[in-house]
Amino acid sequence: MRIEQDLKLGFKDVMIRPKRSTLKSRSQVSLEREYTFLHSNMKWTGVPIMAANMDTVGTFEMAKKLAEKTLFTAVHKHYSVAEWTTFLNETSAELKNSIAVSTGTGKEDSKKLKEIFDLSEDLKFICIDVANGYSEHFVKFVKKTREQYPDKVIIAGNVVTGEMVEELLIAGADIIKVGIGPGSVCTTRVKTGVGYPQLSAIIECADAAHGLGGQIISDGGCAIPGDVAKAFGAGADFVMLGGMLAGHDESGGDVIEVKGEKFKRFYGMSSSTAMDKHAGGVAEYRASEGKTVQVPYRGPVENTLQDILGGIRSTCTYVGAGRLKELTKRTTFIRVAEQENTVYSK
Ligand code: 5GP
Repeated sequence: MRIEQDLKLGFKDVMIRPKRSTLKSRSQVSLEREYTFLHSNMKWTGVPIMAANMDTVGTFEMAKKLAEKTLFTAVHKHYSVAEWTTFLNETSAELKNSIAVSTGTGKEDSKKLKEIFDLSEDLKFICIDVANGYSEHFVKFVKKTREQYPDKVIIAGNVVTGEMVEELLIAGADIIKVGIGPGSVCTTRVKTGVGYPQLSAIIECADAAHGLGGQIISDGGCAIPGDVAKAFGAGADFVMLGGMLAGHDESGGDVIEVKGEKFKRFYGMSSSTAMDKHAGGVAEYRASEGKTVQVPYRGPVENTLQDILGGIRSTCTYVGAGRLKELTKRTTFIRVAEQENTVYSK
């Protein structure tokens, strides 16, 4: 047994220090980024915020809406090939450039992935998503997928430490998904005791990835726009959102009415709700179970997007970053005492 004494921080443990700025208004801030990916050599330009590959978030409807603002969607893996066929028939090349096809690492998963990629040459992103990105089997699957799809962009995860980011990048991934346990409907930390505070995970994994020319996605734990800004400030190239995009018209599922108030169901992809729905198909998705919650129904996702993008633009003006690209360089985090967090949501 060994204890690491270094302090590891989550989003709530810090705030961003304001800095002198020449920007007059948040409208002067550009949130677009351009990336060239390590192995595929593909270029991508857009606002690097992603809908999570959960079946109440990463839907086709969400992808259409998010792509209008150049945001990205990791489409969940439970659509059938027939559903993909219909969707792709009515989809522009531009939209196809804003989505990833998600997959697990089983034989059936590989077969289905190929069937989907055979439908359209314009599909460019593969998201290989497993419970535990530390397994040897996972690294082998990433290698094999890279051999099979040399010019596609491969996203792989989830991990939380630099050495594993490097191993996956060397194995052929372009972008590494970072986060174990911070998700709003995730119970990994409760069930297993395993995890890593998300802000520190981003800082350490971004450093490892950028050293090799790769990118990272911060996945999970953002509950308010300020958290998204902190994730970018810490060095995330992309930020993936589940709970913040749940509860909208585009999230799928029915609106439930309780005592006159409207809700939508939101659940972890390894919760019993998800397992019932997908007939055992997701049992291996996450190391431990997820929760099922009811989130307030929030109508079209458009308003929420305005709120998130407006918040990050405003962060940029507070620290004098004219472009999202400059945010990390201009970020100084200050550690805050716990009681400060009571005013956190103001
Ligand atoms: P959120 O933005 O809601 O805080 O986190 C979303 C992320 O939680 C997802 O992208 C995924 O990585 C993670 N997640 C989704 N479902 C589950 C689950 O059932 N169990 C666990 N451990 N994590 C989950």
